[in-house]
Amino acid sequence: MKSERGVSNSRTRHLYYASLNKQARAWMDRAKCQGLDPHLFFPERGQTTNEAKAVCAACEVRFECLEYALNHDIEFGLWGGVTERKRRTLRATRTKAAQA
Ligand code: SF4
Repeated sequence: MKSERGVSNSRTRHLYYASLNKQARAWMDRAKCQGLDPHLFFPERGQTTNEAKAVCAACEVRFECLEYALNHDIEFGLWGGVTERKRRTLRATRTKAAQA
């Protein structure tokens, strides 16, 4: 059973995707995760992310996906094969570099 957090965020992701114009969705149309269970990409605490990471590793738009999540401050889920925690670290590193 998935938590409300996972369900809510996977729904949000799909609703947001549907609201984007065609140009903004260009890279998303090539996403390898299309048609897969979105819960894979919004794991519960302690749930493995190996399956989702394997999908992302073979995805041709993983860099666009990660940049998208970083640029839009998306907190939850696996984007570009990168977890929430790692994205927070990346954001902090970029912010420090920009301020130096
Ligand atoms: S990198 Fe992963 S989450 Fe991002 S579009 Fe590709 S398969 Fe989907």
